[in-house]
Amino acid sequence: MNKNEVWRAVLDRMQGKISRMEFHTWFKKVKIAEISGGAVLLACPTEMNKNWLQSKYSSVILSNLQAVMPEIEKLYLKVDLSLSDAEPDPVVAEVFQTPKNPRKLPNKPEAKIDNGLTTRITQKRFSLSNFVVGDGNQFAFAAFEAVLQTTIDPKLPPKYNPLFIYGGVGLGKTHLLQGLANDAREKNPDLKIIYTTSERFMNEIINAIRNRKADELRKKYRRVDLFVLDDVQFFEGKDKTQEELFNTFNDLFEFKKQVVFSADRPPSELVGISDRLRSRMGWGLQVDVQMPNFETRVAIIREKAQERGLLLSPDVQEFIATNVRTNLREIENILNQISAELDINKISPTPQSVGKILRRLNPEREISVSADGKTLSLARSTDDVITIVSDYFQIPATSLLGDSRKKEIVYPRQIAWLLCKDILNMSYEAIGADFGGKNHTTIMHGIKKIKKLKRTDSTTARHIHALKKDLGAK
Ligand code: ADP
Ligand code: MG
Repeated sequence: MNKNEVWRAVLDRMQGKISRMEFHTWFKKVKIAEISGGAVLLACPTEMNKNWLQSKYSSVILSNLQAVMPEIEKLYLKVDLSLSDAEPDPVVAEVFQTPKNPRKLPNKPEAKIDNGLTTRITQKRFSLSNFVVGDGNQFAFAAFEAVLQTTIDPKLPPKYNPLFIYGGVGLGKTHLLQGLANDAREKNPDLKIIYTTSERFMNEIINAIRNRKADELRKKYRRVDLFVLDDVQFFEGKDKTQEELFNTFNDLFEFKKQVVFSADRPPSELVGISDRLRSRMGWGLQVDVQMPNFETRVAIIREKAQERGLLLSPDVQEFIATNVRTNLREIENILNQISAELDINKISPTPQSVGKILRRLNPEREISVSADGKTLSLARSTDDVITIVSDYFQIPATSLLGDSRKKEIVYPRQIAWLLCKDILNMSYEAIGADFGGKNHTTIMHGIKKIKKLKRTDSTTARHIHALKKDLGAK
């Protein structure tokens, strides 16, 4: 095998294990510069690329190298600036073409604990260490850290029991809950830990009651060291299961096992929950989470982007932070979209392109450029209109500027003129000049025609509406 073939084999082995995005960002322009005497020297196109591979991936790369060439013992990295423009070797480039192996999630079986008691934790990626602390959540975070300490140390009794966290949707409750469960398990693998949603737990209770096994269920849960129950507002109005929850919870409490609840409201406001259960839930420490401020949101965006190996310019980070105002889950959605588009277009995201994503995710949204709430007009120039119209109708931008009389060109071209007029307030002369030097009467007639069509033809009206939306106009 020559060095390109070796590298290709290593990439093949690795590509299912890391996200496509990271793979593209950090491996695409890397190559093996040299193999000699049991050592491999990798060349990276930038200093940053090199540092990233060094700190995050060097051991994975080495172990995969060793799988391909067992004699390899060491891995070195260097920067070779010429790689940033070089075409990759065709054998290697193939790996980056189509998503052959969709990313596999780590397939860890749930840890079995005696007698069918299973440690259940869903999202591996949540940890207290990747939770960004700022105003709005610092008190909650401190409480979770304290609970983690007492939970992992068998000598320490729970300090805050139960810990009850509440707050609106998408503010990090589930992250903290699952992060606590994940971290506790990692730090003390002997612990029996259950994280579950209230819905799932309720189904379990219902089944147990139906099969006359409620006692067994309770006994089973009694042996848990950490019981984490998400979204308990779900129990409102479910009297029968509330009773069972109350009993289970009492047992755990008696045995000094840590219990953590989350809900969208404080216990006192959970009106459909029995008084005694409510008061039990509120017995320990109650903490709330609120929307963090702008700086904290930027920090969260940075953290999430980094987890994905996604590079975002500061103005894009700030643009997202400005526009995510109520639900932090949107950050994930936006970054996923950016990754997907970057995979396809290979163009770095800008506030404009991210603005389009935001609009697509939520068409009703007001988009702001800055924290002061100014509305961003996504279209700034004729170029923007041309880009978006040619994109929309899937025709080359140059044909919009040309003189072709073909219907499939004339129609989008006239729509583009209308958009320039309506959104950019341009004069007929200015539009003519920007569209390949056309006479202003040509523009005027074209716009007139489209306007008329817009009134009579719903398809045209729809196109214009959609395009205006894409261009950030109402
Ligand atoms: P909730 O359970 O309160 O509805 P989640 O815990 O599901 O909210 O959070 C929604 C998203 O926001 C998740 O992707 C979570 O990782 C992220 N998130 C919320 N707060 C933070 C934070 N402080 N640091 C990092 N990520 C956060
Ligand atoms: Mg949640």
